[in-house]
Amino acid sequence: MTPEEFYARAVAHADGERRLPMPAQSMWEIFPFELDGLRTKPLDPPVLPEPPRNGEGGTPCRACDHLDEGVAWSDERWVLTGFGEPLGLPFGAALMPRAHLDLGDLDEVHAAELGMLTVRIDRAVNALDGIGRVHVNKWGDGGAHLHLMFFARPAGLLQLRGSNLPLWEEMLPRFPEEETAANLRTVARALAADGGVAHG
Ligand SMILES: [Zn+2]
Repeated sequence: MTPEEFYARAVAHADGERRLPMPAQSMWEIFPFELDGLRTKPLDPPVLPEPPRNGEGGTPCRACDHLDEGVAWSDERWVLTGFGEPLGLPFGAALMPRAHLDLGDLDEVHAAELGMLTVRIDRAVNALDGIGRVHVNKWGDGGAHLHLMFFARPAGLLQLRGSNLPLWEEMLPRFPEEETAANLRTVARALAADGGVAHG
């Protein structure tokens, strides 16, 4: 199926304004919104070729240009950075290769290390106080430089379960700055116990 065919099929499934039906999960407790007054956006047609992401098609890469900023932990091939300011969650960080690589570009060494680091970070964040689950996300629609993001869901906040966590995150008050820094530092030190260096 071509993207155009995919789109035509989706529009046939939508209403006269190209609005798709509400998702089934709008009936679940994890959906952040009440349905009253809420409607889906009209589905836009495909844009092909897609515009270049940050760091591709000759555009400068923000990740490469700022790789050393806010680094919590690093080794010769990877850096773990915070987001520079508190999130609405107890923990958030991004794991990036030092080299300008996307997920599919990783060689065997990078790929194996990514797996091990993902497990270590998950373990270290789960060991922080008050964590219910660690969510690991890779989207990459904005930037071409691989950034695997880790978000901690607070324990017991069951509405924050699942893929809507980033939406809830934006609505929640910012986590205290000192506790944000302390959590990042704790995770960085736990990682450094297995290799690499904790900064700060
Ligand atoms: Zn880059």
